[in-house]
Amino acid sequence: MKIVILTGAGISAESGVPTFRASDGLWEGHRIEDVATPEGYERNPGLVHEFYNMRRAHLHQVEPNPAHRALAKLEQHLGNDLTLITQNVDDLHERGGSKRVLHMHGSLLRATCTSCREPFHWQGIMTVSSKCPFCKAMGLVRPAIVWFGEMPYHLEEIEAALVACDVFVSIGTSGAVYPAAGFVQIAHLQGAKTIEINPNLTQNAHHFAEQIQGNAGTEVPRWVEELLDQA
Ligand code: NAD
Ligand code: ZN
Repeated sequence: MKIVILTGAGISAESGVPTFRASDGLWEGHRIEDVATPEGYERNPGLVHEFYNMRRAHLHQVEPNPAHRALAKLEQHLGNDLTLITQNVDDLHERGGSKRVLHMHGSLLRATCTSCREPFHWQGIMTVSSKCPFCKAMGLVRPAIVWFGEMPYHLEEIEAALVACDVFVSIGTSGAVYPAAGFVQIAHLQGAKTIEINPNLTQNAHHFAEQIQGNAGTEVPRWVEELLDQA
């Protein structure tokens, strides 16, 4: 049985990583256009670096929760038959034990150079004078995070997994940002069973055959145990 799982900010909520959609439309006090678009970065790279430096530093204060760990356990059983896609830029899936995670929106722990475009590992603070380890350019290092208007990573591999899957599960995502929000339709068209795990009603809830209403920390381990019992 081939399973594709898509996770969003909700799976890390119980770890203490805030979700995005605050009712005032701001993201931790900032406008999305200022901190999550290439134009915002061009206007004020210092502010964008500070914003992601804070989020990167915050990773040290959070731990994976039972939902992350349950998905790692599922990977141990399914191996390559599980494709785990996350929209999250935290590293909680990896720290929860998952070995193969497709970070379609990038990662706080990676950087890229706007000159030579090489991606590389990054820890600590990034500034407007950070140096690229490859081409040695200064001031052109940016977070390897996919901003609005940019192309997500791993789309080919994701598409291939979606068209071959038997089950598609979406966990803790509001279903508002494309292309991720459209994955359920691709999977459904292929005849896959589609399941959503979320405590709230989402924008694309009607596309899912099954709804599990509840928090990821409780519902994901329960779902994984049931699945492994049946196997
Ligand atoms: P989101 O914040 O839009 O949605 C979070 C979802 O998690 C909600 O559906 C909520 O009901 C659910 N949730 C809350 N607590 C939960 C829990 N304990 N268990 C399970 N689910 C829970 O996050 P998203 O869907 O991951 O956002 C998608 C992408 O949007 C992000 O990857 C990011 O790239 C981008 N983004 C959006 C904004 C924005 O506000 N427009 C800002 C920055 C980035
Ligand atoms: Zn470079």
